[in-house]
Amino acid sequence: METFDHVIVGGGIVGASIAYHMRCKGAGSVLLLERNELASAASSRAAGLILQASTKVSKTPLVKRTRDTIPILEEELGESVGFHNVGSLRIAASEERTLELDSMAADASKWGVPIEWPSTTELSKLVPWLDVSTIRKAAFLPTDGYADPYLLSMSYFKAAQARGAVLRPRTNVRDIIMNNQKIIGVLTDAGHVSCGTVIDACGAWAALFSAQAGSPLPMAPVRSHYWITEPSASYGGEHPVTILPDIGAYMRPEVGGLVLGVQEPRSATFDARELPDDPAAFSPTQGEEHWDVLANSYDAISQFFPGIESAQFSNYICGLSSYTPDGEIILGPVPSISGFYAAAGACGSGIALSAGIGDVIADLVMQQEPAFNIETFRSDRFGMVDPFGEAFRERCAAARASKSRKLT
Ligand SMILES: Cc1cc2nc3c(=O)[nH]c(=O)nc-3n(C[C@H](O)[C@H](O)[C@H](O)COP(=O)(O)OP(=O)(O)OC[C@H]3O[C@@H](n4cnc5c(N)ncnc54)[C@H](O)[C@@H]3O)c2cc1C
Repeated sequence: METFDHVIVGGGIVGASIAYHMRCKGAGSVLLLERNELASAASSRAAGLILQASTKVSKTPLVKRTRDTIPILEEELGESVGFHNVGSLRIAASEERTLELDSMAADASKWGVPIEWPSTTELSKLVPWLDVSTIRKAAFLPTDGYADPYLLSMSYFKAAQARGAVLRPRTNVRDIIMNNQKIIGVLTDAGHVSCGTVIDACGAWAALFSAQAGSPLPMAPVRSHYWITEPSASYGGEHPVTILPDIGAYMRPEVGGLVLGVQEPRSATFDARELPDDPAAFSPTQGEEHWDVLANSYDAISQFFPGIESAQFSNYICGLSSYTPDGEIILGPVPSISGFYAAAGACGSGIALSAGIGDVIADLVMQQEPAFNIETFRSDRFGMVDPFGEAFRERCAAARASKSRKLT
């Protein structure tokens, strides 16, 4: 039987960053187990936005940690990790969103995130395709941008491996082994691994995985999606990521065209028990229904982006994000199971939060105080719930619907 100090289950960006941070801090031997290929689930489908200001003030320091880690990783690997530092523009077109923007900006400033307040003329220069006539206020965050999520995940993996982490794709973890509520190992398709720590970084499957230890995490898989346009001279170019919370939409550049993301009023959710092990065998969108979702948003989007009327959409990407009812992640020890930690329910921000999450888990397994306050992220904050039941899943879908706005 093999023995490691720590076993990370799940080889997406969250597991990758945890492996990297654990080895950076010298946390002992680390084995990462992934049942498919590395970064083949949500972490290869994300739009990759890295936005440091958030309606969830708890997220800002963790995202900032990711932004600060990007140049460190690049230095360490001697190559790009696929980050595009185009900045982000957050637009408010109503009084409610203006107040929200002011409060987000004040919070982000406290963490040292640079924020500028462009004039209408400056806005038109930053994003020439934007109709500025209905905009009340806009903030520009020059250090934000977007990453290639697969490249960033693989960069964490490479750096973790160089520091001694063992990465094992195509290895399914079938069970968690405990003795008197204390982790002593895992059972994989290839046999037993003995360890004192297990970290659940199983993405959309995290509640299912933790249920094996009798503690299903309070989160549910929810559909996230976006569309990609053909390249166009009228809106192509390296413009800032543009966030439109009034209509729950965002745009970012994509090889001469745009990525357009829309938060649905009611996103599809799924019972994790019914998901196949291989995400390639499952699509959260059936048939062509997504064109209706896009068509329903046209009028709202065209207020800000009139060019949408003539945009040619050539691609549609969908996948599963994991949401909790309050839109906050689940991060920290799983109560009543010694040696079991959760890093899940990233609420559509796992790429942006990745380094913050990795840093917290690395500190926790080394019995050190995390650099961030993680009280908000406790896994028992909703009390006893059935994360697979429809009523709970609807609460998670509602959190997705209002992701870019404060929950009311
Ligand atoms: C369309 C879309 C757009 C998004 N856009 C953004 C964005 O702009 N910015 C952002 O920050 N986030 C975004 N996200 C969210 C982001 O992709 C996720 O939060 C992030 O990828 C989660 O990473 P993860 O490692 O937790 O999960 P995953 O990448 O899903 O990895 C989990 C892994 O665990 C493995 N696993 C599960 N069970 C087991 C087991 N029993 N044994 C072994 N392995 C197991 C799975 O095979 C999987 O590979 C988006 C998501 C989607 C779908």
